[in-house]
Amino acid sequence: MNRIVKLLAVALIACMTLASCSGAEGAEQNTEDNSTVAENEEDTIAYPTPDGKKVVCLDAGHGFRDIGCDSDMMEGTEAQVTMAITLLVKQELEKMGACVILTHDGITHPSAEEIKRAANSAGVEYEEESIIENDIFSAYERAIYAASIAEEEGIDLFLSLHVNSIENHPEISRYEIDYHSGNPYANALGELCSALAERLDNEAVIFEDETEKAFIVTKIGSHPSLLLEMGYSTNAEDCARLNSNVWRESFAKEIADTVMEWISSYEEK
Ligand SMILES: [Zn+2]
Repeated sequence: MNRIVKLLAVALIACMTLASCSGAEGAEQNTEDNSTVAENEEDTIAYPTPDGKKVVCLDAGHGFRDIGCDSDMMEGTEAQVTMAITLLVKQELEKMGACVILTHDGITHPSAEEIKRAANSAGVEYEEESIIENDIFSAYERAIYAASIAEEEGIDLFLSLHVNSIENHPEISRYEIDYHSGNPYANALGELCSALAERLDNEAVIFEDETEKAFIVTKIGSHPSLLLEMGYSTNAEDCARLNSNVWRESFAKEIADTVMEWISSYEEK
């Protein structure tokens, strides 16, 4: 496939995903039956060319056979909720002129071969067994993929979206934002976290994680990376918020505004 055809195919897939995840039926979508793996070099996943735009790489947490957390109070699995919200954030960022690259669209993910090449180009060691063959595009593989995009195109921000859960503590309700203390952009990421926390009504807890505790997606590569937990699937109030399309849209806008402001102020320094 040539690049334009591939881009059209990806755009169509993204539209289909948006349509299936934004309504109540999204909750019924079976993540196990509709995934596709790119099988050879010719069949790689396409992403848009930045053409001088700011690049934001969005990572919908989980996906494929990995549904993430699940709860009777949340409409859909964590994988479905993060994908639906990721697509809204993408839309808002694109309205503001950013080039948005997704690690996956919930339907197609890169092949093992492509991840091997990505690991090579990002200079990351990759253990083949961890993979994709089980139809799990793991956080480790998504991070490698993002690091190779950062190598090739540059990434102004990588943002992974998740929903948290905790047993026996239904009272815990909050946003959490994590970054790796060893990231070369750690100071600037700290500022972005504060700006996000302010936009999220100061209900966000910020973690500057040491290497042992940091999430894998925030540790691979040297581009600025954040992981944002959008609430707890074990808390009724957080679920009501996560289920609401009105909240999702306003959240996506707040995130996009804050991220774009941060990227431009960071680059002025
Ligand atoms: Zn998660």
